[in-house]
Amino acid sequence: MRTDTGQTFRLEDYRPSDYLIPETKLDFTLSEHATRVVAELTVSRREGVSPTAPLVLDGDGLVLKRLEIDGKPVSADSYHATPDSLTLRAIPAADRFVLTIETELAPASNAALMGLYRSNGVYCTQCEAEGFRRITYFLDRPDVLSVYTVRIEADQAEAPLLLSNGNPVDSGSLEKGRHFAVWHDPFPKPSYLFALVAGDLGCVKDSYTTTSGRSVELGIYIEHGKENQAGYAMDALRRSMRWDEEVFGREYDLDVFNLVAVSDFNMGAMENKGLNIFNDKYVLAAEETATDADFANIEAIVAHEYFHNWTGNRITCRDWFQLCLKEGLTVFRDHEFSADQRSRAVKRIAEVRTLRAHQFPEDQGPLAHPVRPRRYREINNFYTATVYEKGSEVVRMIRTILGAELFRKGMDLYFERHDGDAATIEDFLTVFEDVSGRDLSQFALWYHQAGTPNLSVSASHNPSTAELTVEIEQSVPPTPSESRKRLMHIPLAFGLVGHDGKDIAYASVEGATVENGVLHVRKRSHTVRFTGVEERPVLSLNRGFSAPVSLSVEHKPEDLFFLASHDSDEFSRWQAFNTLLTNAVIAAYRNTLGDKPLHFEEGLLELAGRIAQDERLEHAFRALALTLPAESDVARDISHNIDPDAVHAGRDALALRIAEANSGVFSKLYDDLRMSDAFTPDAASAGRRALRNTLLDFLSLLPGGAVKALDHFQAATNMTDRAAALAVLVHRHGGSEQAREALAAFEARHGADPLVMDKWFMIQATAPGTGTLDAVRGLMKHAAFSIGNPNRVRSLIGSFASANQTGFHRADGTGYAFFVETVLEVEKRNPQVAARLATAMRSWRSLELTRQELARQALLAIQSQDGLSADLRDIIERTLA
Ligand code: ZN
Repeated sequence: MRTDTGQTFRLEDYRPSDYLIPETKLDFTLSEHATRVVAELTVSRREGVSPTAPLVLDGDGLVLKRLEIDGKPVSADSYHATPDSLTLRAIPAADRFVLTIETELAPASNAALMGLYRSNGVYCTQCEAEGFRRITYFLDRPDVLSVYTVRIEADQAEAPLLLSNGNPVDSGSLEKGRHFAVWHDPFPKPSYLFALVAGDLGCVKDSYTTTSGRSVELGIYIEHGKENQAGYAMDALRRSMRWDEEVFGREYDLDVFNLVAVSDFNMGAMENKGLNIFNDKYVLAAEETATDADFANIEAIVAHEYFHNWTGNRITCRDWFQLCLKEGLTVFRDHEFSADQRSRAVKRIAEVRTLRAHQFPEDQGPLAHPVRPRRYREINNFYTATVYEKGSEVVRMIRTILGAELFRKGMDLYFERHDGDAATIEDFLTVFEDVSGRDLSQFALWYHQAGTPNLSVSASHNPSTAELTVEIEQSVPPTPSESRKRLMHIPLAFGLVGHDGKDIAYASVEGATVENGVLHVRKRSHTVRFTGVEERPVLSLNRGFSAPVSLSVEHKPEDLFFLASHDSDEFSRWQAFNTLLTNAVIAAYRNTLGDKPLHFEEGLLELAGRIAQDERLEHAFRALALTLPAESDVARDISHNIDPDAVHAGRDALALRIAEANSGVFSKLYDDLRMSDAFTPDAASAGRRALRNTLLDFLSLLPGGAVKALDHFQAATNMTDRAAALAVLVHRHGGSEQAREALAAFEARHGADPLVMDKWFMIQATAPGTGTLDAVRGLMKHAAFSIGNPNRVRSLIGSFASANQTGFHRADGTGYAFFVETVLEVEKRNPQVAARLATAMRSWRSLELTRQELARQALLAIQSQDGLSADLRDIIERTLA
């Protein structure tokens, strides 16, 4: 484990390396406990660098076995090797030489899952961000690009399959049951994109012909016996390849594209050139085992990793500060892909919900950082919602500002100008300035400045002058180490909605630039005057969520009701209803705290019924609209001194009132939505299921609800319905006979499939109430649980800590004691997963004082440990700062 060195890396310290490695030959002799790696690096000195400049290579826990320059051993006094670096002082005067490095690895005992490790008997690698240095000494930084040739030798029976990046060039048998394969990747790439897989896996093959006629062999490798679960991923891959050709003009560039699913993986997936490696959770899909949400995730992540081939691999990052250059852009691309494959409005609502659930709390708490950070201690902790999700929103805003056509032109220029480069955010912004002639310097603050900007808006209409005046004020709250903020450029899509629901025209506007329905906020305050507005319109703002800001609009309640029913922008319609629901829960929260009776407006309850039945709306949209804001969403809006128990009480009370007020309508609709045809994972069918399952959640609150939910569970013919019913039983009727029966049935049916058992763990871990802590402790002893597997840890412990407000944030602090114990236990094996788990505490300062103090004690208890990993110490100390 790499312990903390206290070192901080800073963007302003960037300088190119003195040496380059144009060619890399790797020779792996695989064995579980002693894998031999011989690296033959062609090293060249960068022009102008003194021949006396030392060559310093990165390592991480390495053991050096042999070192040669141009085939001759290097004398002991001219190099210095530690586990974490290799320094060569006497270097040949020639501009180029070959450095041979032999290291020995023990993949079977690599529990951190970085570098070369074993997952279920399969050798695999994860090198991003800095895992390659756990394989051999190297200039392990993204701006050192090299052409790789990789030879893999292994036992034929143990590892019939030998894969690496690029194209296969040779293979054959050797003595003693061993064999080998050689792969060559003609595209120079940074070390973080290196990959190797060796093992005994099942395979599904297909082929694809690009528009220009290149034929590509596609392979998906999964555990034997699961071949029938790879079809959806293959289909998603083919659709991604076509889409990137059509929408971005990008074709694939190798003869093969391989995708491997492994069961021990720190993150979602990895875009290694020509050899994507996936967490099996994001590959395997069948109706019996995967939910509609799983299908949608698989489609999105397969696309995401594939799209990286251009945005990430062909054009990579100069340094890790530029991570959003590839991640934000690639998330934007996968969002657009999913929007095109499914319903655009529904997809947008889901994206915004995710952004608010994960990025907003990050941006509004101690872990806030700019989309392009300026400093880090541990780069693994910057694979965040801010870099990915907000990074994608920033790209979306560029398109909003430029328009689709100029945006595409800019992207074309980006690919043309920077293909083969390790680029920066400045390079990216420049292409859009060049194609549009616009100055994006104020806009660039979205990359440089952390925090969620806030816009306060009020409007007044003067019928006698037919003028609408809109006052807009922006503020950006302070974030850690950035107390003074500069004013941002915020593109705000809007409409003036007339009484018939249609947008009304105006004669002129002054006070802000308005182009194509987008108002550009650039100053602290704008007084925007629209003339020729005869009737009082209702202002619809931030349509389509054009900017990732928080809005406080002085709306009359009836205006929100009006928008929720009539806004022509579906996102804004959803938003209006969601705001009404959130406000209702917050009001109930306050009354709960004040021991006052709870009261909900009849109009709101009725509107829920009307939305449920509105045939003009997609099923999926209706399901999203009727899904009450999560307790964490409500807590975020309350923002301080939060009592999670009262939030829970307020939200539950609203759910019950909606169910009671609409029981007839909901029951009928629930029955009508029953599907008898064969399962298909398409968006329309998924939408029907989503709406029906949402209705079940409400109906389960009425008399006989537990029996109804158990019926639903037993009648389910797919995982979506089965898991939904189980969640309703465990969350709404925890401890009931019906809940116990369903849990047992699920376990009996899926106990042997750990990925499916993750759902069973997660549903139980997110059951509200103080009793869940003991349940989680008990489940950690379950045969299907394993503390070394990241998926198990995330589904049982991660979901408990980050998605169970009442269970985890117990007023007696025992949830936090469990947190300390478990995070430290996970850290022993896997610091990266432990650090991610620890981010569950990021909003601790918004809790009421008793819990705050208990949370602080827990964080301090971790901080005081000796020998903490760099990963965990960084998160804990920033969270406490
Ligand atoms: Zn990515």
